[in-house]
Amino acid sequence: MTELAPYAASPQCSRGRKIHEDAPPGRSEFQRDRDRIIHSSAFRRLEYKTQVFVNHEGDLFRTRLTHSIEVAQIGRSIARRLRLNEDLVEAISLAHDLGHTPFGHAGQDALNTCMEDYGGFEHNLQSLRVVDVLEERYANFDGLNLCFETREGILKHCSPENAARLGDVGARFLNDQRPTLEAQIANLADEIAYNNHDVDDGLRSGLITLEQLASVRMFSGHLGEVRKTYPALAERRVVHETIRRMINTLVSDVISQTEKNIRAQPIVDADDVRNAPTLLAFGAQMLELNRELKAFLRTHLYRHYRVMRMSAKAHRIISELFQAFMEDRRLLPPQFLRAAEMEHARSVADYIAGMTDRYAIREHRRLFAVEEN
Ligand code: MG
Repeated sequence: MTELAPYAASPQCSRGRKIHEDAPPGRSEFQRDRDRIIHSSAFRRLEYKTQVFVNHEGDLFRTRLTHSIEVAQIGRSIARRLRLNEDLVEAISLAHDLGHTPFGHAGQDALNTCMEDYGGFEHNLQSLRVVDVLEERYANFDGLNLCFETREGILKHCSPENAARLGDVGARFLNDQRPTLEAQIANLADEIAYNNHDVDDGLRSGLITLEQLASVRMFSGHLGEVRKTYPALAERRVVHETIRRMINTLVSDVISQTEKNIRAQPIVDADDVRNAPTLLAFGAQMLELNRELKAFLRTHLYRHYRVMRMSAKAHRIISELFQAFMEDRRLLPPQFLRAAEMEHARSVADYIAGMTDRYAIREHRRLFAVEEN
């Protein structure tokens, strides 16, 4: 194995776990984190949660589980080329969506609105809450007791109020510092993964068309090349070949731009990474092309009337569930019952956020349809 760069995150220099544990034999601390994440129940539930499409809409669409695996795969490729810690990137990538509500962004927005008077709801914070508190598996602690670096990587964004409340893991938001390069990779790999698979799923679902995508330079450039090289290729293969090339181009661009950024700064060790500006980035030209792709998806896919209808339905289901549990706490499964009102709202949010798409639909039916129980 090639030696890691001196500014890579190293498990030996980890800031450790909240509860001390002896080093695991035969695997690194970050490998242990990854293994705990994979064994968690929140991870298994990702299979039945979605981002844009709802789980039952088709078996070929991405779920949050396959999305997280794609993020880890893209992230590891970048980490390996930059000689950074692949295990940490993998752990953060696999955990980054653990706190997501059912029904993707629509679900998150709905729950955030419901929680307005009770501290709000933010899926990043919820992912951290899952690994810090909500998983109940280990004898000696709540949560998964992950390393500081993994937890910090999961917390992508955070308001100053929440950062202050979170202590060490929120400190960087108050001190204007960056997380490890490994966390920066997981963040960007997330974006590369979902932009590209949303194009793929969008085309597969028929919500967007190749003709529309002609206005997106990053896509049309590669599409033109593929069609020229393989004039007789079937459409699905043309799409896949084009997307494959887009991902490769984005990954290569991130690697070369990041190498440049690191060279331009006095980066000697992992602490320098924290104090430097964000080092992991696209080059200026790719950033522009990527923005164009995102803008396209926003207009043509995320605001497509069929997606909007599903979002409206998701809003309704989430807010009606929330309201029902707030009005009568006896409807809540006993393990979610807590005394104070503020805590009750948080418990309701934990319960709803943990639901899969189909569970939320079923639970809604159980509460609101007379013939069900
Ligand atoms: Mg994601």
